[in-house]
Amino acid sequence: MQSGNKESIKKNRYCAVCGQKKVLDGVSGNNFCLFCEKETPNKYLVTVAETLNVHDQVKMLKKSTGYKKFAVSVIKGWFSSHSHKDGVDIYRIIDKENDEYHEVVEDKHTGTILHQSHEKLANTLDMEARATSSRREYLNRPGMERR
Ligand SMILES: [Zn+2]
Repeated sequence: MQSGNKESIKKNRYCAVCGQKKVLDGVSGNNFCLFCEKETPNKYLVTVAETLNVHDQVKMLKKSTGYKKFAVSVIKGWFSSHSHKDGVDIYRIIDKENDEYHEVVEDKHTGTILHQSHEKLANTLDMEARATSSRREYLNRPGMERR
């Protein structure tokens, strides 16, 4: 994952002067811009999708009137784990608008799904507390630990 990121960052190398993507022609130096026809400073563009591969967590909340705190909550990110040395990837959606709860825990290294649940929210009194405690239960099982 790490080396893959570095690779894609290298590919997204742009000229800081003209803004064109830099292409290696195999003859000129690494900083040579074919459009400016000289060596120029580089700038790198990294997309959100690429930064997600790094050990990061992203949380999005959709707020709506009529819903306490949030209407929809989406969490996606990396959590450390003793039993899975590359960590686990957790993707959780709490959707009050559609009465849905989804959680998928994936082994970051193999891509194997370790745990998932897809349920109705209706039976829960405090959805946020439920989400928090379910994550805590999972991560506190022997061998699991949140960083
Ligand atoms: Zn240029």
